[in-house]
Amino acid sequence: MTQTPKCPAITITPGENRHGFMIRRVEPIPEIRVTAYEMEHERTGARVLHLHCEDRENLYAIAFRTPPPDSTGLPHILEHSVLAGSECYPLKDAFNELLKGTLQTFLNAFTYPDKTIYPVASQVRADYFNLARVYTDLVLRPRLLWQTFAQEGHHFELADPEDPGSDLIVSGIVYNEMKGAYSSQDSLMYKALQENLYPDTPYACDSGGSPEAIPSLTYEQFKAFHRAYYSPSNAYWFLYGDIPTADHLIFLEEILSGFERVQVDSEIPSQPRWDAPSAVRGYYPVEKAESMQKKTTVNVGWMLSENTDHDTALLLQITAGALVGSAAGPLRKALIDSGLGEDLSPVTGLERDLKQIVFAVGLRGTEPQKAQQIERLIIDTLRRVAGDGFDRELIEGTLHQVEFQGKEIQRGTFPYGITLMGRVFHTWLYDGDPLAGLNFPRLIEAVRRRWAEHPALFEDVVRKWFLENPHRLLSVMEPSPGYLDEQEASFRNRMSGIKATLPADAIEKIRRDAEALKSFQAKADGPEALDCLPRLNVRDLERAVETIPTERLNLGGVPALSHELFTNGIAYLDLAFDIADIPEDMQPYLPLLGKFMTNMGAAGLDYEQLAKRIALKTGGLGSSLSAGLLADAHTRNVREETAGPSLSAPSRDAVSDERHWQKMIFRVRALHRHIGEAVDILADVLTAGDLSDETRMRDLLAEKKNRLHAAVIPSGHLFARRSAGASLSVAAFRDEQWAGKTQLELLTNLQAYNDPKEAFQGKLLRLKELIFRRERLTLNLTGDAEGLGLLGKATESLLSRLPGGGPAGRASMPDLQARDAGVAIPAPVCYVAQVMKAPTYTDPMAAPLWVLSRQLSSGYLYKHIRVQGGAYGGMCQYDPMNGLFAFLSYRDPHLLETLDVYRRAVDAMINERITAEDLEKAVVGAIGALDRPMDPAGRGFTALIRTFAGLTDADRQAFRDGVLTVTSEQLQETAARYFLPAVVSAVVAVYASEERLIRANEALPSKLTIERLP
Ligand SMILES: [Zn+2]
Repeated sequence: MTQTPKCPAITITPGENRHGFMIRRVEPIPEIRVTAYEMEHERTGARVLHLHCEDRENLYAIAFRTPPPDSTGLPHILEHSVLAGSECYPLKDAFNELLKGTLQTFLNAFTYPDKTIYPVASQVRADYFNLARVYTDLVLRPRLLWQTFAQEGHHFELADPEDPGSDLIVSGIVYNEMKGAYSSQDSLMYKALQENLYPDTPYACDSGGSPEAIPSLTYEQFKAFHRAYYSPSNAYWFLYGDIPTADHLIFLEEILSGFERVQVDSEIPSQPRWDAPSAVRGYYPVEKAESMQKKTTVNVGWMLSENTDHDTALLLQITAGALVGSAAGPLRKALIDSGLGEDLSPVTGLERDLKQIVFAVGLRGTEPQKAQQIERLIIDTLRRVAGDGFDRELIEGTLHQVEFQGKEIQRGTFPYGITLMGRVFHTWLYDGDPLAGLNFPRLIEAVRRRWAEHPALFEDVVRKWFLENPHRLLSVMEPSPGYLDEQEASFRNRMSGIKATLPADAIEKIRRDAEALKSFQAKADGPEALDCLPRLNVRDLERAVETIPTERLNLGGVPALSHELFTNGIAYLDLAFDIADIPEDMQPYLPLLGKFMTNMGAAGLDYEQLAKRIALKTGGLGSSLSAGLLADAHTRNVREETAGPSLSAPSRDAVSDERHWQKMIFRVRALHRHIGEAVDILADVLTAGDLSDETRMRDLLAEKKNRLHAAVIPSGHLFARRSAGASLSVAAFRDEQWAGKTQLELLTNLQAYNDPKEAFQGKLLRLKELIFRRERLTLNLTGDAEGLGLLGKATESLLSRLPGGGPAGRASMPDLQARDAGVAIPAPVCYVAQVMKAPTYTDPMAAPLWVLSRQLSSGYLYKHIRVQGGAYGGMCQYDPMNGLFAFLSYRDPHLLETLDVYRRAVDAMINERITAEDLEKAVVGAIGALDRPMDPAGRGFTALIRTFAGLTDADRQAFRDGVLTVTSEQLQETAARYFLPAVVSAVVAVYASEERLIRANEALPSKLTIERLP
């Protein structure tokens, strides 16, 4: 496992013609273990890039250049609609069918400001080619029915279909998705910057669509946009993984038959550079009762170089990293220290997904009248940096970070191939060299050489691209309590204006079309249509669970887990401290403790010096909190509950203190050559951390509060899920307390000094004293044999420095009180959650429930909340690790109707038996969801969490066997046995505007307690 895999051998040579493709270039890039093939389909001119490597998670992506002509959302609505069905696959929603019944590890579509990408990934070869075949046909030959356009884009409806005099309203999935996006301050801010920095290009339009412009898009324009841009001649195929290049070419030759070369004008024009800076002002919605103070964000943005000039782009990336990338960055520091605002604007850093790169920086939590002052401070700081020069260590640290990121194998929510694809398109889309940005180690070496020859390299970058660059925009984003009302009023005006001009027969047509759409949506696809889709059988699935190599050790008396994995020269160390017994009144402060420990000074260094040391010697140092139930925690309990029909509310004895676990986990990652020093830094932080710098503490507090606050609107469904789940188990209670609305309330109060300063600091010191002790610790080591050896050695001194003394023993128990809540937020859409207690892993009901949850998400909920309801998302989540089952909706125009859908979904599951074909698909999809690939760091961490949960590989195998052999009778029986008692004690939480909540309460039998967001 320790040898470095090389790049695969070259199989085709440049200049060859294979299967209708001209091989333009072949380049091994051993540093990232890839052999790259750049090819062109001779007849159509289609461009193909294959990154051949040993990763078995193969990625297939088709991209088109799609510059938007206006803000009606053409590229975005088309992205949603092509995936509905094609000539060969005449389904109503082929995308959803693929999501259900394949082993896809990634299936999605992205609309960017200038391109649209359709990626699919799978670890199974037959599945991969099935998915690629269907996806290509959907994209190149879609049906684009008017019903699909109306459903995904927009259509008119009468508020009351029976009453021709009632209001005209607009419905549509993209329409509601964008209404949600247009209530988030962060997205409005980014939009203002992009649209105003590039006023003479397609970037001045919103490819996603503005809710105001979407309703004016016509069906004809929509089809014409597809004809214009979706041809192989305007396409880029990005392929990644271990399938040989020749196999791809044979496949592509076949699917490209019938296509000819066409002329496509999709070039993205460059924005001419301005002679003088400019300014713009915008508004975002806030609650009427909210204070307007410190709610403005000020940003300064520059248009920089062309993306295709990769050498300059890389220098800009390093310069930007040095200026604002760490706490030691001079521009970040100057802004924070100025006190002109609370924390850095979330729109800070370099953006490369545009033809010309943009850099932006600014302050959040400020006032409009401070805008000029902030701009001046930014310019003055840059002038000072250019004059005095950068701190060399800061540049070294940034170079190290870039090198580290280029080397690390990362597979978070996205396959690693997607990360590489992003880098390729920065240049490829604009006719540059697609490989320019891939070989990080070599690129960084070249930069080091240039820097050695020319020590003022980065100061010159600051001078040329910032100080002497007049293409600069000052953007001010102010809060507006009237924003949503004004929008609503102007919408109503417009609709009544439109309606007044419509003759009676046109209104009748709107009514009939809406009715026709509803009946189209209600009808299921016929078996002939479904049979067109290639599918896998349950018997083709892997029976055995994949295990993570784990050795249990004892290091100096401390229990440790060790995972030997190929990690490309990087090692990972986790330190998990038991926190289950931390007194109840101190539990809410744990997230702050983690943030402060890793972001303040230690061992005689102030925070700035420590930040530099972290950037130079580690790939990152962070902390997290984790709580969960033991794998068999709810088993006995739920069975008892299902036996008794009289169950009313979740009983407190459902959770006893032995049955859950809680940890505070610190993680450091480092290149082999830095392991010793990286572990030393962690030891310094834990044993000699300095929490006395009060200014720094207040800055970090403000940053944490603002980030959590800004996350509410984009992740409203998760906040709602936390609010609803908090009374159901200690683990779920902690999740809410640490990352939900309760945490936001605490941070807001602390910031307002409601908690006396001494008491607050005293709590943190006490926690630090209490937690960082040897007896509370579990170590987790991930790396190859060499890395593990180095880690083992390095931890010796760390352990010798940690004081002894263990947990008090008794876990502390919060008071769990269930209540249905409505949280008022400034958004025109709703997030509706209903959460119930559910069986944990080892319960016999867990496997059937897992399959049911998949079936429900992509079946009943998808159909009724998204397709028919027009919400961006409707789903359920079953979490057997935490014993919770949640119904959720996202950017939902409905509230009461959605709660009703949840009720009817349960009835449907109990009353309708699933067909054999649907069962097969559901099982394949459920196994696919279990087999999500993980990166090496993720595998090591997952093994640690499974250990805490007491989840063995034998438990996992039993669960998998249960999924593989589930029958339709079992599903139906489980639905009745689980849901009937569970829904009685379900808890509801809704995040929506206050008006919506008040109106809902008029109709709800059990009222929502209306709360405000702090
Ligand atoms: Zn969308």
